[in-house]
Amino acid sequence: MKRYLVSSFIFFLFLCGAILLIYSRCIQIQNDHLQQHLFTEQAAIRSSIHTYSLLAQAINDEVIQTEQVLKLVHDITNSHGKEQNILRGQLYRLLDPVYQRLRGKQVRQLHFHFPDSRSMLRFHAPSRSDDSLVAVRPSVVRANTDHEIVNGFESGRIFHGFRHVYPLSYQGEHIGSVEISTSFYQIRNEFKHLSEDGLNTLNNSNKSQLAFLLYRPEMWNKLFDDLHTFYQTTPLHPDYIIERADLISSLCSEKISESPLVDRVQQKLSHSSEVARKLKQHRSFAVAVNLRGTTYTVVFHSVQNTLKQHAAYIMSVTPEPFIATIRNDGILMGVLATVLLTVILLYRFRFLAADENEKRQALFLSNISDNLGTALYTTNHEGTITFTNTAMEVLLGYQQKEMLGRNAHELFHQPQDTDDHSPCICEEVLRTNTTIRSDAYYFVDRTGALFPVEVVCSPLRDHKQTIGTATIFQDISKRREQEEQLQQAQQELISANASLKNLASHDGLTGVYNRRSFDEQVERLWRSAARHKQPLALLMVDIDHFKRYNDLFGHLQGDECLRRVAQTLQKACKRPEDFVARYGGEEFAILLPLTGHDDSEHVAQRIQAQIGSLAIEHPGNEKNQRITLSIGCCTCLPDGGETVQDFIFAADQCLYRAKEEGRNTICCCRLQGDEQES
Ligand code: GH3
Ligand code: MG
Ligand code: MG
Repeated sequence: MKRYLVSSFIFFLFLCGAILLIYSRCIQIQNDHLQQHLFTEQAAIRSSIHTYSLLAQAINDEVIQTEQVLKLVHDITNSHGKEQNILRGQLYRLLDPVYQRLRGKQVRQLHFHFPDSRSMLRFHAPSRSDDSLVAVRPSVVRANTDHEIVNGFESGRIFHGFRHVYPLSYQGEHIGSVEISTSFYQIRNEFKHLSEDGLNTLNNSNKSQLAFLLYRPEMWNKLFDDLHTFYQTTPLHPDYIIERADLISSLCSEKISESPLVDRVQQKLSHSSEVARKLKQHRSFAVAVNLRGTTYTVVFHSVQNTLKQHAAYIMSVTPEPFIATIRNDGILMGVLATVLLTVILLYRFRFLAADENEKRQALFLSNISDNLGTALYTTNHEGTITFTNTAMEVLLGYQQKEMLGRNAHELFHQPQDTDDHSPCICEEVLRTNTTIRSDAYYFVDRTGALFPVEVVCSPLRDHKQTIGTATIFQDISKRREQEEQLQQAQQELISANASLKNLASHDGLTGVYNRRSFDEQVERLWRSAARHKQPLALLMVDIDHFKRYNDLFGHLQGDECLRRVAQTLQKACKRPEDFVARYGGEEFAILLPLTGHDDSEHVAQRIQAQIGSLAIEHPGNEKNQRITLSIGCCTCLPDGGETVQDFIFAADQCLYRAKEEGRNTICCCRLQGDEQES
């Protein structure tokens, strides 16, 4: 949320900055344009004023500076009373036709003055004369005092205008002065003519409308009191007044048209503090104003009087589409900047949302990996660890920050054979680009202890490109321990089984096979001999007078004697396939596969010899005083006519005969009635 707020704040700052920049740039272009407009118009107005200066000069040269006019003026100056009035009348009649021609067109006033600056003759008001102009007309005083031509704007008792005052002299004598003045309206007309001639087409001055604003403090007190009503205050500012066109026209016969547009502009600018401030500075300036959807350039040309004091403003109002274009361009750029920055902000929001989503996913995966019982780590191409989970910290005893940036192989990989040159599993995965599963690795924890691991290492891919490895592993020490315990238990079980089997198949006292084993074996060997047509021999062995032995030495020694006899029988039967079993009591049965009659007898003899060599004392065996054996031996080549029971019976019969014949004897026979005795 904080990042969204910061982004919004930065967006707001940039937007404000961009709008401010665009605004200031537009204002600068507008001001440059207004300044240019101001200079151009000033040049045009100066040109217009200069045109009327030339005209006034021409009138002076051609009309005034004539012998007749100068003499009349001289005479008026040097006469008094009625004579003076008569001469004044002559001058009036002489020049009135010229004045009437020029009046309302190029000239507003034609006014002669006495050398002492009293009014001599006003052609626009002939009845008003002899009043002193010293207080109100500095230009006249200067012309009469310094005898020099004075040009410039000046207010007056009746009219105001651009004055051209020429000193007059007759035969070297200063006789007064004459003033030829032009009104603002004539300047305006000239300005328009100039515009129509194309001088100002660049700034649309041909569409300009002008107004003349008189500075009230400069002129109000100079006016004849009865003429105050000819003026009215401008809506623009109370310090400025304008001539009332309807009344002034009656005085000077000029066609003075009022401009409703200028009035509206003045109304509008009356609310502008900037205009009010600049008006007070009395300097020329230009402003732009928007009126009813049209933009105008309003130029205020400061007009100074002949004493270089501010006396009026010429105000021009010109439609100015260029400024509207600047403003429209500015608005367009502002909108574009806003749209652009908004798009950037939206992209930023989108990025933040994606980033947060990514973080959430990372947290989600991190939670999963941390809660995973299996250790997990990733490496880059160089085998440097880039990620570990909590289980990894628990298993290895390192903190995550200790592992990140370290080489996995150097830190905790330890191949089983501890050969340092053995390849790292991660390197193998990167080399083969396949997943490797193994439980043959050992890793080393922080304490240096080795522990077996089951490890699965896979290539880590990013858009089909392998960028490293991801490995999961778990400690299999306990599993190994359990496996070993299981293996041991299995071994014990096998051993117990073997022991059980041995117990089941062997005789507990003597260690040779028991009767049950004999029964199975004799059947098996019998069938085998029959199948392969091979001989089989059976020796039935009985210890002579063993009851007496027990009686004499006790059962324990009897048992010991049985054990020794059994061991001797086992030793005497050397072939692996020979089978010695305790048949019951003190009787033993020996099966000799692949053994014929002679060989079996030989084995019987060997047995007797070896028993004899034991020399076990047996006083009860009266004849020999030693333990002796009686052996019945039967050999057979089974052909299907006899049974195994016949075979055992035959051997038993031989044993019986051996007993009968005095014991310590061997009796042999061949089954099928082919019996022999020894
Ligand atoms: P003969 O020469 O006729 O074979 O006489 P004998 O005494 O050996 O035979 P008899 O069948 O009369 O007696 C067998 C004796 O063997 C009886 C018994 O006391 C003894 N015997 C049988 N089994 C064992 C045994 O497991 N341990 C001991 N100590 N004696 C046994
Ligand atoms: Mg017996
Ligand atoms: Mg016996």
